[in-house]
Amino acid sequence: MIFAGKVAAITGGGSGIGLALAERLASLGTRVAVCDVDAGRLAEARDRVPGAFTMAADVADPAQLEEFAARTEREFGAVHLVCANAGIVGPMGERLWEVDDAQWRRVVDVNLLGVVSTLRAFVPRLLRNPPGHVGITASMAAVTTHALMPAYYATKHALLSLADTLHLQFARDGHGVGVSVLLPAQVTTRLGESVTDSAGAGNPEGISPGEVADRFVEAVRSRRVHVFTHPGSPELARARIATVTGDDSSAGA
Ligand code: NAD
Repeated sequence: MIFAGKVAAITGGGSGIGLALAERLASLGTRVAVCDVDAGRLAEARDRVPGAFTMAADVADPAQLEEFAARTEREFGAVHLVCANAGIVGPMGERLWEVDDAQWRRVVDVNLLGVVSTLRAFVPRLLRNPPGHVGITASMAAVTTHALMPAYYATKHALLSLADTLHLQFARDGHGVGVSVLLPAQVTTRLGESVTDSAGAGNPEGISPGEVADRFVEAVRSRRVHVFTHPGSPELARARIATVTGDDSSAGA
């Protein structure tokens, strides 16, 4: 895809990876629309991405996403690329059977159904302006395991499945729309502030959000579906599969 002159919409674009995607795409001549649930962060995005269209929206509310899609299209005339990026950590540390219903539902509503609603709002618009591309920010949490973040890991696993299904359906129907699912490990963003059951903190370690945005741009250009961003990540994914197939001699029964 040639980025100049195209239109991209990004959810959770007020901070971190979403903001870096907005900056990177704008630097390539793409017109950018950003939504975020946090109005203060949106103001930051407006400062850092000149010409961006911004709108406060909660991805957990399908009506707000439909409005974001409609207003993006009105503002720029078309949409060619959507990045379903907004996400939260939620509970971190509690035993999963003790995490309360409200915390479970919020993470599922934002991380999983928020992506589904983003696709529902934007994919029909992308199909009117081929070739088009869908980006989904999953995580290495989609292909690894962790004892402490039950809702985050479950929803990120689901996003990998969603991205693969979308890719298969686009290919089957000959739509020519690309799909790239980002699988980052640690990135220096404010994601730690979205932990709900212990003191949230920033993500002090990891690669920069700009590096993730660079990997995304390369993936769109090469139409790569699964996008690892860190060295060693493919090996971690293979090790996970080995525990599932029983080929990992160090794993328990
Ligand atoms: P971040 O907190 O810096 O940015 C996320 C943005 O999404 C924030 O501005 C936040 O206000 C917004 N947001 C949260 N809930 C929202 C909602 N309901 N509706 C709209 N906007 C909402 O964190 P980040 O690390 O840039 O996170 C972006 C994505 O990257 C997430 O999906 C996250 O799971 C994923 N990710 C992050 C890392 C990491 O180490 N930071 C690693 C792998 C994947």
